[in-house]
Amino acid sequence: MGHLVLIGGGHAHAGVLFDTAKIIAQGHQVTLINPTPQHYYSGMGPGVLGGTYSPEQIRFPVKAMVEARGGTFVEDRMVSVDAASRTVLLASGGTVDYDVLSFNAGSVIPTPDETPPQSKDVLTVKPIQNLWFGRERIETLLKQGPVRVAVVGGGPAALEVAGNARSVRVDGRSPEVTVFAGKKFLRNLPERIRSMALANFARRGINVLEAGYVHRAESGRVILQSGDEHKADVIFLALGVRPPTLFADSGLTTGPDGGLAVNRFLQSAQHPEIFGGGDCIHFTDQPLDKVGVYAVRQHPVLVHNLSAQLNGQPLMPFDPGGKYLLIFNLGDGTGIFMKWGLIFGGKPAFWFKDTIDRRFMALFSTDNG
Ligand SMILES: Cc1cc2nc3c(=O)[nH]c(=O)nc-3n(C[C@H](O)[C@H](O)[C@H](O)COP(=O)(O)OP(=O)(O)OC[C@H]3O[C@@H](n4cnc5c(N)ncnc54)[C@H](O)[C@@H]3O)c2cc1C
Repeated sequence: MGHLVLIGGGHAHAGVLFDTAKIIAQGHQVTLINPTPQHYYSGMGPGVLGGTYSPEQIRFPVKAMVEARGGTFVEDRMVSVDAASRTVLLASGGTVDYDVLSFNAGSVIPTPDETPPQSKDVLTVKPIQNLWFGRERIETLLKQGPVRVAVVGGGPAALEVAGNARSVRVDGRSPEVTVFAGKKFLRNLPERIRSMALANFARRGINVLEAGYVHRAESGRVILQSGDEHKADVIFLALGVRPPTLFADSGLTTGPDGGLAVNRFLQSAQHPEIFGGGDCIHFTDQPLDKVGVYAVRQHPVLVHNLSAQLNGQPLMPFDPGGKYLLIFNLGDGTGIFMKWGLIFGGKPAFWFKDTIDRRFMALFSTDNG
């Protein structure tokens, strides 16, 4: 009998959580360690900010999922792992021993000055719950008067967060929204997407500033590297994502971005009993974009390989697959769709995204009760 310990109940572990009972039926023990009893689906997160979805519609109950299938849930955060003794150390000070360990610890949003936000009005766009807190804060402030929202970042998350922040309305009033996009907004996306996004934002009065990078974001203001200051009541930080530092801190081999280095079996070559998926890994064969699509594509491989490792059976390799679909939610009932060289915008694009996302969440409807 082996003990499978899962760190993080995110998108990459969802398949394993569904299969907990099967793994236990093979004679093993399964423990999930996650800081919260629920996990929020990032694909629909901006829609919670904009009011399209309620927080209840976009979360899945990871605690209930694992417990209903006979596993153990530990509400805690892992801080380090001692691979020599096969023990994880928790923020509470507790420890958990494992035979097989799998990481789905996600990613963190860097801040401009590398210090964690000190104000309730400065929010990183992950954890996704922050988008709901941001909505509540904007609504509260709108009841008192005009509100300025700053979105720091120039990528897809900044696009979605700005578009949805603009859709928050109280008594017919919406916040003024400015994106601090560095030197060029959406610079890694095709020019056509950038033009469509800029046209949408211009129509809706959302400002995009391409005046250089932000040096610091603090309560009430955004300070650019040039020294220019801009007042802001609520600030969202959307500066990309990177894996947490816990792998390097634990002496595990990492990729250049600090993600856990894994081979084509999603397995650490250094410690074969350690696996991982989602944003927190560095897939050594081919670095992968930090998108939920890969976490979801890794489900079946993690499901197979974790029980295969416990049972001493052969592992299966992960194939990242071809190009993936991207649809951005602009927050006004429209979106921008991109795949196979095809780009289109408007309501049909958002309809596609909404349908796909609702279908994904429907997988959890039984567990959500
Ligand atoms: C605003 C926004 C919108 C996005 N929209 C899309 C989209 O539409 N489509 C798409 O493909 N991608 C999207 N992404 C990217 C997507 O969020 C990530 O790629 C995806 O969440 C990765 O999934 P994951 O399972 O690796 O991590 P996560 O979903 O972040 O899950 C990680 C889990 O691990 C837990 N955890 C973290 N640290 C610890 C620890 N130390 N100990 C224990 N547990 C821990 C967390 O609480 C969390 O539950 C978006 C990102 C953002 C910020």
